[in-house]
Amino acid sequence: MVDGSLPLIWRNFSERYNLMGSKCKSCGKSFFPTRLICPNCRTKGKLVAEQMPFTGKIVSWTKVFVGPQGFDMETPYFLALIELDNGAMILSQLVDNDDGKVRTGARVEKVFRKLQDNDAEGAIAYGYKFRVTG
Ligand SMILES: [Zn+2]
Repeated sequence: MVDGSLPLIWRNFSERYNLMGSKCKSCGKSFFPTRLICPNCRTKGKLVAEQMPFTGKIVSWTKVFVGPQGFDMETPYFLALIELDNGAMILSQLVDNDDGKVRTGARVEKVFRKLQDNDAEGAIAYGYKFRVTG
């Protein structure tokens, strides 16, 4: 596992796993993952690091029947676009597999799960998951 891209992967991993994002001091909007330039204000905005809240609600969702490599064992699973409580949007896999629970507007929270430690970059990118709470 000695390779030049490892530090970058681990930086991204840590950021994603802990849900570190950015907040614009000019317009007050929050973004995940971290941005260098505010998509709202462009270069005028001043971005600072912000810890994302671990709770939010489902804005949109889809059921995935054929997953990317590394997710074969888990299909079907739900993929949801979540609006966190600070307004930032995040795309995440849901741990719930219950058709009745997953719906638009449902409350969700981030869960801590053992991550797959294989070399699939996709597994690292999806290091966080959410579950439906109500
Ligand atoms: Zn801004």
